[in-house]
Parts: sequence; structure tokens; C-alpha cells
Amino acid sequence: FDQLDGFIWMNGEFVKWADAKVHVLTHGLHYASSVFEGERAYGGEIFKLEEHTKRLHDSAEILGFTIPYSEQVINEACRELLRKQGFSDAYVRPVAWRGSEMMGVSAQKNRINCAIAIWQWPSYFDPEQKLKGIRLDMAEYRRPDPRTAPSRAKAAGLYMICTLSKHAAEAKGYADALMLDWRGQVAEATGANVFFVKDGQLHTPLADCFLNGITRQTVIELAKRRGLTVNERAIQPEELSTFSECFLTGTAAEVTPVSEIGEFRFTPGEISKQLMNDYTAEVTPKQIAAE
Ligand code: PMP
Repeated sequence: FDQLDGFIWMNGEFVKWADAKVHVLTHGLHYASSVFEGERAYGGEIFKLEEHTKRLHDSAEILGFTIPYSEQVINEACRELLRKQGFSDAYVRPVAWRGSEMMGVSAQKNRINCAIAIWQWPSYFDPEQKLKGIRLDMAEYRRPDPRTAPSRAKAAGLYMICTLSKHAAEAKGYADALMLDWRGQVAEATGANVFFVKDGQLHTPLADCFLNGITRQTVIELAKRRGLTVNERAIQPEELSTFSECFLTGTAAEVTPVSEIGEFRFTPGEISKQLMNDYTAEVTPKQIAAE
């Protein structure tokens, strides 16, 4: 992935993709002092760019550092890089981390670096394929208590248990894993939030120890626009047998129906389909939608 063509925005400059390097003694690599974002561009526009950039800045502050580029500068760099890369539909990955000036747990004086990469990452499935649903395993690791880790930050360190859980699920032939939280309640997948349907209403865990996804918030709004009731509440794993539909939401996942979680089965139905379509309409720039 480090030898692609094109450019990466790094600390205020556009550098050749293959030249965007860091030193092996980077604090972010050893101590996970790194935060990032995941965004998607549709039809040449980055969906909810401002919200993502704000979350990037907030995540950094939660980890105790300040990104030395304003939200405005980051927004403009994302837009310019998208143009420079020549993509209209693409994935956008800003990242910020503590540099390599000092080694050790404490790194108060290390430079705060920031980079943005943009590449093509299409939704792999056409809507028909997507509606078959993906299969999830139950993860062994649990989302930590907010008193154990800064769970509101999109921080690299929190992804250690996500990669472990996703790899374990993939080794068993599943697409992803559903994680419980430290209390044993249903939390989210390894890189996406989760929703369920019962009796025509949506149910989704309260985002009190994991990312309140921008897609999650968008889908809640879309559901409410349709007049659907959305219950944000504690969901116990024993309840999984009572839900008829299940889907994941996330920038990369968009709205992805789920057919199976461990022993439980779901049938992607009308509500998943409607929200998939509503989400596609919502992310499509207005002038393209009108064509
Ligand atoms: N939870 C986790 C762990 C994630 O990595 C993501 C993707 N950023 C989400 C939830 C969904 O967030 P968003 O909808 O803002 O992409």
C-alpha cells in the first residue's frame, strides 16, 4: 500500500505517495499516541467532512495533544487532495500522531504530525449482494469501560482489540465480529455500529463506551424522517433472538445488513433496504442526484 501513485498531504505539503514516511522511533508507533478518521467522498464531495475533521481534532485533544493545523486547513487539504488524486468516489484517511523527537512514555515535546491519504475503496457489494447480509462471530474482547480507555476518541490504541477480534472472526470464516462492552451488553462491530429491528422499530446500543458514529447519527436521522421509532438503549446479548433484522453502519460499511451473529439468524428486510437506499440518497451530492 506504500507504493501507490499520487500524493499524500503531510504536515502542510503534498508529497509523493511513496515518500510519506515516518521514523521507526515514532511515539505513535510505540505508544499508540495516534488518532485518525475515515471518510468517504461521493461524486467529488466528502460526506460530512466538517464533522469528521472536528472529531479528528477532538480525538487528539482527548489524547492530550493539539493538531497544529486548524479544522479549516484540514478541510481544505482534504478537498484539494481529492482533486489532486483525481477521484470522485474515494476513501479519505486523515491521521495525526506524536513524532520521534523523544523516546519514552512521556513525549510532551514531540512534534504533532498530521497526514491525509486518499484512495479508491469502492463498496464491494452491489445492493442485491449486500442484502444477503454478512455473517458475524461473537468477539472475545470487550469494549472497555470509559474509565479504562478514552472510548470517545477515534484513537489507534482502541483498535488493537478490533484487529484481534476481526482476525479471529475471519479465521473462522466470518466477515466481522460483534463486540460486547465491559458490562456484557451489545456494543458494536470492529469498525461499525450496530442496529436491530423489532416490530417495525429500531434498537441500537447507547453509544456510551464506543464511537457514536457519524453514519449512526445520520441513519438515526433518516429513520426518524421516515417516522420510525429509534430506541437507543442497553441491549443484552440474550435479546439477539428477538430481533428480525440487523445491520451495521459506518463510513466504510455504509449500511450493511447482517444475516447471522453466532447462533442467531436475521433476514435483511424492508427497513434495512429502505435505510440503505435513504443513505445512498443522502450521501449523493444534490446536483448528481438531480441528473
Ligand atoms: N465504531 C468503530 C470502532 C469504527 O471504527 C467506526 C468507523 N469509524 C464506527 C464505529 C462508525 O463510525 P462512522 O460512522 O463515523 O464512520
